[in-house]
Amino acid sequence: MLTPFLKVETPTTFKDHPNTFSALLYTQINKCNLNCYQCHNRRHFKGEEEFLKEEELKEKLSMLKLLGVELIIISGGEPTLEGNLEKGLEVIKRENFPVRLDTNGTNPEKIKKLIKEGLIDGVALDLKIPLKSEYTPSELKRFKRILFSSESLEDSKIYEYSNKVKLTLNLMKEHPLPYNILRTVKYPFLNEDEIEKIKGEVKPLPCPYQVNPFYSVEEA
Ligand code: SF4
Repeated sequence: MLTPFLKVETPTTFKDHPNTFSALLYTQINKCNLNCYQCHNRRHFKGEEEFLKEEELKEKLSMLKLLGVELIIISGGEPTLEGNLEKGLEVIKRENFPVRLDTNGTNPEKIKKLIKEGLIDGVALDLKIPLKSEYTPSELKRFKRILFSSESLEDSKIYEYSNKVKLTLNLMKEHPLPYNILRTVKYPFLNEDEIEKIKGEVKPLPCPYQVNPFYSVEEA
C-alpha cells in the first residue's frame, strides 16, 4: 500500500513544542485548496510526487524512534484532502507515536472524524486572517491576497474560509488535545489591529498561540 506521505527528507525540530523532539512527514505539497502568499512549503518541495510505501514508512518510523523522536507532525499541502490519510495515520499510531496534524482549518468535518477515531493528538491551525461575519472591501482585497495570492476571485471564498475555520477552532475548544497549537504569520497585508483581533479570537482556547514573523520566499 502507498501511504499519503512523500518520499522526501524528514526534518526534525523542537520548534512549537520545545520539550518534544518532533519529526515532519509531508503529504502532497500542491494538494491544497488555498494558494497563500509565498507558500514556503511549495517553494521547498517542487513537484515531488513519490510516496512512501507502507513498509518504507514503518522503516522510517523505526529509525525515528531510535533517534528519540517523540512526535510525528503531518504537514502538506493540506493533509485533510488526502483520500488515504486515515490509512497512513493508522500506520503511525500502530507504532505508538502521537501525531499532530498541520492544517489550514478549512476541513473541519475531516478533523472531527480524525479526532473521533483517535488518529491525531493535536491540531496545528494557522489563523491567517481575522474571522468575521462582515468584511470591508479593503479587507476582502487584502485577505484574498493572503489566502489566494490574487484579488480576482469571489468574496464568498473569504466568507467560506472564515466559516470553516471557525468550526475548526470550535473543535479545538471542545477537544483540548495535548499537541494543539495556533499560529499566525504576520503577512505584510495584515495590520496590527487585525493581529490583535486574531489574538482576541484565540484567547479562550487552552493551547499555545504564536505570532510568527513573515519571511519572504526570496529572503528564506
Ligand atoms: S495552506 Fe499552507 S500549504 Fe496551503 S497554500 Fe497556504 S501555506 Fe501553502
